[in-house]
Amino acid sequence: MSTATLSRLGGKADFPGLAGGWHYLDSAATAQKPQVVIDAVSRALGTDYATVHRGVYARSAEMTLAFEAAREKVAALIGGQSAELVFTRGATEAINLVAYVYPAKGRVLLSGLEHHSNIVPWQLAGWQIDVCPLTADGRIDLDAAEAMLTPEHTIVAFAHVSNVLGSILDVPRAVELAHRVGAKILLDGCQAAARLPVDVAALGCDFYAFSAHKLYGPTGIGALWGRAELLDAMPPWQGGGAMIDRVTFAATTYAPAPQRFEAGTPAIVEAIGFGAAADYVRSIGLEAIHNHEAALVAALREQLRRRNDVTLFGPEESAGIVSFALEGVHPHDLGTILDEANGDFGRVAIRAGHHCAQPLMDHLGVAATARASFGIYSDESDLAALIAGIERTRRIFG
Ligand code: PMP
Repeated sequence: MSTATLSRLGGKADFPGLAGGWHYLDSAATAQKPQVVIDAVSRALGTDYATVHRGVYARSAEMTLAFEAAREKVAALIGGQSAELVFTRGATEAINLVAYVYPAKGRVLLSGLEHHSNIVPWQLAGWQIDVCPLTADGRIDLDAAEAMLTPEHTIVAFAHVSNVLGSILDVPRAVELAHRVGAKILLDGCQAAARLPVDVAALGCDFYAFSAHKLYGPTGIGALWGRAELLDAMPPWQGGGAMIDRVTFAATTYAPAPQRFEAGTPAIVEAIGFGAAADYVRSIGLEAIHNHEAALVAALREQLRRRNDVTLFGPEESAGIVSFALEGVHPHDLGTILDEANGDFGRVAIRAGHHCAQPLMDHLGVAATARASFGIYSDESDLAALIAGIERTRRIFG
């Protein structure tokens, strides 16, 4: 697809963080925030501010309604019910929650492309870990998963979209394979939720973890969606206010899910910002966002392929993320040079490093990659600036 066919979605004007012609190509790390989210956060922190759940006065009751409305919006974004949506600090905490309190702790099948936050929690919580290999083009090899899975596996935990390669999991098949041996499947939807239409009911998965800040919302909040019967069977993992039914020194009983997993005063303001972000993303439509980003990926890959000094990683069909290496130039040097002004082009922000996926770097045989990732606001001008910056880097390095 040529760059001429790329649409402009939300447009950069919605995003104050992009003022001044900054070419932000690091949305997979965190997305810029639209003004509507900033306004919602500002109102929640200002004129509307009060605690939730405990207040007997009107402002607190209104804040509670807004907080619970946010839960509904976030749940609806991924096709879930609000009673099945636990607010967490982010995808990391969501995965830790399952790793620590899922009652049938045993063997977990992960894959070779997982983010550290879908590896280390399982290690810390004492699971036995098996690792599904990748296909040559960098997708989770589900034929291998099929051969590896046994009734001993109680959980399969895979990234829906790889944060390094943009590889998209064949979820229906992964779900079918996990369920065939009696395992539950957790999807790390941190990248996917912002880039693909997600419907947990239709996908048939059991848990879905994601973060607001990659979805155009605030930091400090994310969500774990889980099937009601699974959440109901899980014990609490942190104790405190809001997660109890009745406390005595002799015995304490707990609130039902999702409150059972939300000890303490929640991230009220952030939750409301998360809800506003869900509204914003839904108003644009994830199908449109996916198509927009897919066109940008195809255009960037095509332009990089024309050079004989670039190695491209990952499959052709990837969701909004392109990892590559420029021959003879360390990704950090490339990232630093791109961050400098370049003639008529503004500065370009890419990610350079291991992207919290060191086992994947080992598999690729590199210490780091350069990664460009797109969002609603990305457009041809960002691609042009990146390509011009790569050319400038080539001139500097020879
Ligand atoms: N999984 C994936 C695939 C990610 O890209 C990230 C963030 N880079 C995480 C998990 C962790 O998300 P957070 O840091 O927001 O908890």
